Amino acid sequence: MPSRLTVVVSQGRSPNPKKRALEEQIVAGLLGDRGIDVTIVPHLYDLTAESTGMLCLSGISGDLVFCSWLYPRAARWTLDRQGIRGQEGISLLKSLGESDEDLEEPTAEEDAKHLVIDRLELPSRKIYCLDLRAYDDSEIFQEEIRRIAQESNTSTVELSSWINGNPRPEQMERYLAAEKNGVANGYDNVPGEKTHDEEDPARRWYPVIDFSRCTNCLECIDFCLFGVYGIDAQETILVEQPDNCRQGCPACSRVCPENAIIFPQHKTPTIAGSAEVGGNLKIDLSQLFGAPDPGAPGAEKALEVAARERNEQLLLAGRETVGANVGVPKRDPPGNLEEQPQDELDLLIDSLDALDL
Ligand code: SF4
Ligand code: SF4
Repeated sequence: MPSRLTVVVSQGRSPNPKKRALEEQIVAGLLGDRGIDVTIVPHLYDLTAESTGMLCLSGISGDLVFCSWLYPRAARWTLDRQGIRGQEGISLLKSLGESDEDLEEPTAEEDAKHLVIDRLELPSRKIYCLDLRAYDDSEIFQEEIRRIAQESNTSTVELSSWINGNPRPEQMERYLAAEKNGVANGYDNVPGEKTHDEEDPARRWYPVIDFSRCTNCLECIDFCLFGVYGIDAQETILVEQPDNCRQGCPACSRVCPENAIIFPQHKTPTIAGSAEVGGNLKIDLSQLFGAPDPGAPGAEKALEVAARERNEQLLLAGRETVGANVGVPKRDPPGNLEEQPQDELDLLIDSLDALDL
């Protein structure tokens, strides 16, 4: 069987004509390419397990290029959560805002970590995730996809007509009329834009775990009081009840010591899955999360903000608030703060506890 590459374009939530045009141009530009199958699905993050779009994705067995309006990490691990698994395909394209400086080699300390991904059994096929926000020119994506097609040497199995071959005219028509079907309206997570619409129940909001960073420390399960997380038969963390997550709440992403929890639609790039922060929290979190207590160091501010956000959600849910120490890890601050005397840290932690938010 000849090698084939499947390209999936995941539509944005936005009716922005520029975005829609880019999607159309990529699809149209690849229609004539032999060896490349193109298909379109609604916005990945909103797809449920039973949706047609997810069934379509589940049927793809060979190498996959997944184009979406998400950071590649967010797309990859959202796919993984739905059982769409594979090895990470390395693209030559950058994601939104990515620079060469983000591609740091892991430190010895990072290498020594026991990551969940090391015990995952991933199929050998590759999944390349391309960020549609990074370039305006569809040719750039088409060229990269053709390069990947040459690199790809796996075979696909025969699948339904929806997946194999190029889109039929009616599929293309459905794609172009997506707004009418309620597939896309609203905003994507471009910084500065609205990130989600609480009035639209079709818009989902849940955490996605990056298992290439997660060490299974289980701090997130202790912290979340809404029953979102669970553990599987191998005692590995999983997002068990995603729709229990509170719309707009990103609190546990601040608590995760490995920056492994992604909210793909959050306006802050590091929470939305950008590559710029490594697992050891190289930068001062206060620059990202604000500073309720100007005297607190970065990691403490992040925990403080997380506790406050959790209390806000408890109140909105009609529940009682909890103390800032409930399920909140007490950890060593990062970087230069390691050198600070322990009694100063104790004071900071005590003052955090005393807030009783
Ligand atoms: S807190 Fe982060 S590293 Fe720890 S189990 Fe949860 S996702 Fe994994
Ligand atoms: S964001 Fe809030 S509600 Fe959602 S899983 Fe995290 S702590 Fe729980």
